[in-house]
Amino acid sequence: MAKTLVYVAHDNLHRNRGALALAAPESHEVVFVESQRMLQSQRWHKQRIFFMLSAARHFAAELKAIGFKVHYLKATDTAAGINSIKNSFSEVIAAEPSSFRLYKSLQSIGVKFIDNDFFLTPRSLFAHWAKGEKSLKMENFYRWQRIRLNILMESEKPVGGAWNFDEENRLPPPKEPYSWPKYPNWQRDQIDLEVIEEIDNSSYVGQIDEEIWGTTRQFALAQLDQFLDKSFADFGPYEDAMTTKSWALHHSLLSPYLNLGLITAEEVIDAAIKRYQKGKIPLSSCEGFIRQIIGWREYINGIYWLFGENYRNENHFGSNRKLLPLFEDASKTSMNCVANSINDIEQRAWVHHIPRLMVLSNLAMLADINPAEFLAWMRRVFIDAADWVMVPNVIGMSMHADGGKMSTKPYIAGGAYISRMSDYCSSCKYNPKLRIGENACPFTTLYWHYLNRNRELLKRNHRMFQQINASKKLADIEATVAAGDEILDGLERGEV
Ligand code: FAD
Ligand code: SF4
Repeated sequence: MAKTLVYVAHDNLHRNRGALALAAPESHEVVFVESQRMLQSQRWHKQRIFFMLSAARHFAAELKAIGFKVHYLKATDTAAGINSIKNSFSEVIAAEPSSFRLYKSLQSIGVKFIDNDFFLTPRSLFAHWAKGEKSLKMENFYRWQRIRLNILMESEKPVGGAWNFDEENRLPPPKEPYSWPKYPNWQRDQIDLEVIEEIDNSSYVGQIDEEIWGTTRQFALAQLDQFLDKSFADFGPYEDAMTTKSWALHHSLLSPYLNLGLITAEEVIDAAIKRYQKGKIPLSSCEGFIRQIIGWREYINGIYWLFGENYRNENHFGSNRKLLPLFEDASKTSMNCVANSINDIEQRAWVHHIPRLMVLSNLAMLADINPAEFLAWMRRVFIDAADWVMVPNVIGMSMHADGGKMSTKPYIAGGAYISRMSDYCSSCKYNPKLRIGENACPFTTLYWHYLNRNRELLKRNHRMFQQINASKKLADIEATVAAGDEILDGLERGEV
């Protein structure tokens, strides 16, 4: 009897999830496809491509080792690869794909979908939650998740009597001397080295020399342990801090592994709760971390499917400036916070959520960068990028390009925020307190410039009322606007 073919997408790398959960070597064969369309369509960060290809090849080897016949194909695109062998099988099955594009492509060739259980919240359940809500606040979703999944709950009340401990978290970087954790080093193996050789001389961007991203489930589990041992206790207080002394602070570095399916949200949450119950982990840190996984991650995936395929094209502010040269080359700016973030991305294809949100996206917003261009850049250069996660994070959360369907206000800030939450400003040419003059911080000037030029669009947003009012009262608003115009020109030339 003909066997069933299981298509394993690059982000379904788990033996017990998706279509593989149903498969056995006697009745199923497995196919992976390296799509040349995907590989050649963008100037991806090398680290990202290396990570995706090497993790898939490792996983294919693991499946072979347990007896599966594995077809590892290189084809013009995924559908072409599957089509080239599918006639020898009774049917082709796959987990519901994580992007609209792959969904359509696999559907068009008759692939049968199995529920995507790489998330804790099925798409239909999220839609059901959303239907009952007036506004789609993440906080409400998160509380609903805590109750639904019975996580950190005590007799239907949140453990500790509060849903969040933001007051205790969100501190600036600690005073030196402070000992930041070390991050594990992955020893590259033969498969890694082969992939590196294949892509190193290509037209991709960034570096690939750091040995931080492992490419197996075994390494993902080691990274989880490392986080729980060395960083979990202090995750909360410093989750929003930025410092030149540590590139990852106490962040878990789990997003790349979670997003490829090498480790699941359930496994991460179970381990975190067990560690918390053993003692020595403050509730504020545990809650702060759990919120990221069962709240933010699930919420973002739910929003991607809820808002549909065209959500990526939203552009509420009509922003149309091209991507600034500094995003491709840190030497095109003297802004210390931006140059540091871009250098970190060049080196590791990763920075944590605050540089993504309050440095890079903040600048893109204040400078009126076209949201689709900024989205494309972010998708190219981050190791953990995927369509489902980048589209809502960029279009909804960080660029407010959806006019507030997702977030109630734009995340914009002047230099004062970056100065408070980082040690970047002390060695920067610019002064975060100044909005005019040679040393004025571009963030500070552009913040007021932005409020002034977008007054009409923001005036009905009650959460922006105070800021808009303050901008109207600025005595030097004309000079600030003129300075902002100059900064925008300078940014385009790569001279700010
Ligand atoms: P931690 O700080 O340790 O958090 C734990 C986990 O929570 C993460 O691993 C991640 O799985 C989850 N998480 C937290 N916030 C989010 C969120 N907003 N969306 C989805 N998951 C979240 N995350 C990605 O995984 N891929 C992306 O492409 C991505 N793009 C982003 C773009 C912007 C503009 C912003 C503001 C955030 C983005 N994030 C993205 C979310 C977040 O920045 C990363 O998940 C996080 O920095 C990954 O590092 P970590 O694993 O150490 O996270
Ligand atoms: Fe960034 Fe402004 Fe601080 Fe310089 S002064 S590091 S540009 S916030």
